[in-house]
Amino acid sequence: MLPFAKLERYEGNEALFEMVNMSIVSTYVGEPLHIHAEGLRGTGKTTIMRKAQDILPNITRIKGCIYNCDPAEPHCPHHRELSAQEIIDLGVEEIPMPFLEISHSAKVGTVAGSIDLAKLTDGCNPEARLLPGIIPQAHRGIIFVDEINRLADTAPEITDILLDVMGTKPGHLQIEEAGLPVVHLKVIVSVWAASNPDEEPGALEEIRRQLSDRFDMVCYMGRPTSMDVLTNILKENSHNTKVHADRDLINVGDYEKQHEIYRQILLRWAERYNQADLPDFLRNYIARLYVKHNLESIRAIEAMQQGAVLYSIIKDRDQATITDVIRMLPLILKHRLDSDTLIRVINDVDVKGGKESMFSFVNKKPNKSDQTEETDYFKSVGRPLKDLKRQELINTEKSLDFNKVD
Ligand SMILES: [Zn+2]
Repeated sequence: MLPFAKLERYEGNEALFEMVNMSIVSTYVGEPLHIHAEGLRGTGKTTIMRKAQDILPNITRIKGCIYNCDPAEPHCPHHRELSAQEIIDLGVEEIPMPFLEISHSAKVGTVAGSIDLAKLTDGCNPEARLLPGIIPQAHRGIIFVDEINRLADTAPEITDILLDVMGTKPGHLQIEEAGLPVVHLKVIVSVWAASNPDEEPGALEEIRRQLSDRFDMVCYMGRPTSMDVLTNILKENSHNTKVHADRDLINVGDYEKQHEIYRQILLRWAERYNQADLPDFLRNYIARLYVKHNLESIRAIEAMQQGAVLYSIIKDRDQATITDVIRMLPLILKHRLDSDTLIRVINDVDVKGGKESMFSFVNKKPNKSDQTEETDYFKSVGRPLKDLKRQELINTEKSLDFNKVD
């Protein structure tokens, strides 16, 4: 597979690259951002998500901790009771931000956790211990699920675990295994998913609406339409390129340099995201959208807040603006609303002139004098015809004075 730096970027997949960047930045600072890419086979959604592994920054964990304990905030059963000094004594290490995949054949034990059979059958010192599954091992990183619509259809027990993990930020995981006490863990994990709604069993929101709503953002991947992009895709997939795939390896060092640059940028964004917040008037604006359009999902408006700030940061702007909120609306609302309502919400901002309606709402403090002004205004233009004097209707010969100089 191509290195991340070499992936084709075009208009139709730009939103996915942006979502991936926003989610990495957010996960790095400890706030998951769950994203879902929908689209036809061959649009490269899975490749972009999988290859994002190339640019994931490092995290620091307590040395050897399979749960990726943050030394400043240990959470795992082995380390959460330790004192600061004991943790210093254990030491720390850097590892790449985890990126793990849940496959369709995965069992609850492999996803959540199971009894560690090696420890249990240890001849000298048998011990019943927990072997953490994919989700606890992905703490402070990403979990990828390809064809999530199929998983939701065929593996309801795994879906239930995802619902829990994605239900709050940070998420919650409960590991139950016969013979072991139940373990509760806090997990900071962003779930990335891909699916093709045109194939069996259909769109995720129709299979398991609850799981669909857990995704903060969904991006609908467009097909590449530019000749150049398509020519490049063909070239990358040609027989010749594949046979000489090792030629590309020579350049791997070059790509690694590029990936390191990406990593540094992501870290810089993360540092800024740590400090950034949404201005209050934009929060009011989002709240107003919720009330006015009877949006059902609090998650949706939380995602607007999180998304607008993240988007302004990956666009290197100092502060989120109304444009950033508007940019997020289709990603956040398309899987949550029927198309009529979605159009109404977007039109609320666009047609009335985003900034205009926005600022008139924010700056207008409805006080008495404003109201009188408004009534007066309507009076002067909206008087019934019968109340108008004849003079106001037609200029009579008498009222016309040709000699008058204006
Ligand atoms: Zn630990």
